[in-house]
Amino acid sequence: MRYSRAAVITRHNAPLEIQNVPFPELTKGDLLIRVVSSTLCGTDVHRWHGPLGGGDTLPIITGHEPCGVIEEIAGERTDILGNPVKRGDRVVWSYVSCGSCYYCSVAMQPCICPDRASWGHNRSDEPPYLLGSCSEYMYVPRQCLIVKVPDEVSSHSAAASACAYRTCMHGFDRLGAIKSHETVLIQGSGPIGIFCAAVAKDHGAKQVLMIGAPNPRLEVAKRMGADHVLNFEEVTDAKDRKEWVASHTGGRGADIVIQAATNGAVPEGLSLLRGGGRFLNIGVGGRAAIAVDALPQQLSFLTVRSGEPRHWLQALDFMASRRDRYPFEEMISARYKLDQINEAMSAMASFSVVKAAIEFA
Ligand SMILES: [Zn+2]
Ligand SMILES: [Zn+2]
Repeated sequence: MRYSRAAVITRHNAPLEIQNVPFPELTKGDLLIRVVSSTLCGTDVHRWHGPLGGGDTLPIITGHEPCGVIEEIAGERTDILGNPVKRGDRVVWSYVSCGSCYYCSVAMQPCICPDRASWGHNRSDEPPYLLGSCSEYMYVPRQCLIVKVPDEVSSHSAAASACAYRTCMHGFDRLGAIKSHETVLIQGSGPIGIFCAAVAKDHGAKQVLMIGAPNPRLEVAKRMGADHVLNFEEVTDAKDRKEWVASHTGGRGADIVIQAATNGAVPEGLSLLRGGGRFLNIGVGGRAAIAVDALPQQLSFLTVRSGEPRHWLQALDFMASRRDRYPFEEMISARYKLDQINEAMSAMASFSVVKAAIEFA
């Protein structure tokens, strides 16, 4: 029997354990991946702190942002562009929807397919075992679409495309075109907020404003496209923050607000949006009663869940083609070995890093 060393959540809030988890049997179309990088996502921290719902039960190998190299393929496979894949290719892979339900085939909104499959929250003591990314090896079910990683993109950045960045690309797809006179305000300076700053700027925004914290994250955001940043830990009165946004927008408020923090930020975000503006809600962590005094007139409110396979590709293409303009590598601000998983999870939980990566030799 072969085993993969993996970081396993055995109890909520307790230190993760490094365990030897068995390899699965591969059947036609399945892949076995040797993981090169697994970046950590806020959701990993939430799942570690307590059950997220949706039937999660422990033990779970933490992590759902992998990039790796194909170790074994059962049969022949092609990538999302129809090109053959082979052992040794560096890849990421998408979640899969059923393809035949109302959401997949009529509404064309496969991310809300009720039969959509995802990973990073599956039991590690039942086949196929290796579905979490903080593990030396991962199992890729045959239904997943494979996306090759361009040479210009590092494995850490590619790993981050597997959740954070592809969700941003999905959000911008939903948002539609950004006009050259428009101001985009981003709430939140985590990986999603910062990546959104680069995409908003690239897609033509006149200026990108960001409200976030702490300062080291805001400094990265400035190099990633944010024109003006405000630290909410320093400017603690919402009235002052509103004035700051007004001062940059002719008193109207932002044309577009992207909420990339938690649902609790929605009421303030709505108050910073101009009438007729567009609100994109990406940061869905946390539960909040969303009570507002008055909604902006003619507001468009968009929410986003995860990403479609093409958004994995878009995120990688964006990083490959804009690598000279934005310092994507600065987003991965701390690197750890698998044995340091608890240190890495704590760093993410305390927001002391932008994004932590687990790197494998
Ligand atoms: Zn479906
Ligand atoms: Zn995630």
